[in-house]
Amino acid sequence: MPADRLYYNDAYIQTFTARVTQRSIIDGKPAVALDRSAFYPEGGGQSGDRGALNDVQVLDTQADEAGEIWHILAAPLDADEVQGQLDWARRFDFMQQHHGQHLLSAACEQQFDARTVAVHLGSEICTVDLAHPGFTAEQIAAIEDATNQMIWANAPIHARFVTPEELSTLTLRKLPQAYERIRIVSAGDFDHSPCGGTHPNRTGEVGSVVIRRWERYKNGVRVEFVCGGRAIGDYRWKNQILQGVSAELSVGLVEIAPAVQRLRAAEQTQRKALERAQERLIDYDAQDLIAAAPKLGGVPVVVQSYDDRTLDSVRLLAKRIAELSGVALLGLRADKAQLVFNRPAGVAADMGALLKAAAAIVGGRGGGKPEAAQGGGPDRERLDQALQTALAELRTALDS
Ligand SMILES: [Zn+2]
Repeated sequence: MPADRLYYNDAYIQTFTARVTQRSIIDGKPAVALDRSAFYPEGGGQSGDRGALNDVQVLDTQADEAGEIWHILAAPLDADEVQGQLDWARRFDFMQQHHGQHLLSAACEQQFDARTVAVHLGSEICTVDLAHPGFTAEQIAAIEDATNQMIWANAPIHARFVTPEELSTLTLRKLPQAYERIRIVSAGDFDHSPCGGTHPNRTGEVGSVVIRRWERYKNGVRVEFVCGGRAIGDYRWKNQILQGVSAELSVGLVEIAPAVQRLRAAEQTQRKALERAQERLIDYDAQDLIAAAPKLGGVPVVVQSYDDRTLDSVRLLAKRIAELSGVALLGLRADKAQLVFNRPAGVAADMGALLKAAAAIVGGRGGGKPEAAQGGGPDRERLDQALQTALAELRTALDS
């Protein structure tokens, strides 16, 4: 016979004695069934309880199809009589989240006719999925307020098994599944729903509910929330973050948003100024290089390799040299040897062909159009040799 579920009548039982009725191995771990248990098995979106049987750790609690409760253990348990001890802090946290979810779902339904279609109560994140096209921030605040009003009403919570006759007199938030016995959890007179889970004695113990965020999900809305101790924890870390940002910016909490906006605007202005300065520098560079460059067939040819530029700046420089009517055969020793060739319009040389020949020297490949080409290879040591090869090809092209 499956274990007597002690939490049905009293969700506050933290310790109990029981007799081992069955032993098994579940997912490679020893597991026992008892004649009675206060451990809640995973279900209804809520995790299974943890704790200990004698001095053996209970890692998880699961129910099988026959309704038997399996306590999954960290080590084998030999005793036949056991003392059970729940991880009460964890369980009470789940009771707060779980009943908070009941009330949140009730508020969503009462206020916006938004039915709960799925629930997830994780050890950090809790969500309800609602059948609703979408909420505004004001509507979310209204749901949060209505839920907290139900919590602060501190109404008694009753969980009981009901007869079909009594069931027919109740307005339920959701339909019960076809269990043999139907357990109804009522919060005051404002929410009745079928549930086999663990609940506090009064709604006030949920403490408070906070909706952290919401998003479109499938055809509805997923709402992420925290209750009770978790709401305090959520407030605490967010407050710490804001205090840190406030100190870093040397402004009060309410001034953080405008201060960040000012910073971003200043950063954008500086970035634009820097870009303009870089363009001017490249322009000066290009002019200097062309002035000093030897000429082939009347065209200045800049052959130059770099170690300390970015590839982008080498590209811009080559482009600028070509705009100023010079041929650029530039190289960069970065993580590999990079080659960037540009020529002005009207010069009868194919940069793509030059680059192909030069890239082969550094053990790589590359190509491009007659007026501009780029490529490279792994052999950084032969970069200058590659540039000289390109220069020789250029000379041949321009002489012919
Ligand atoms: Zn419940």
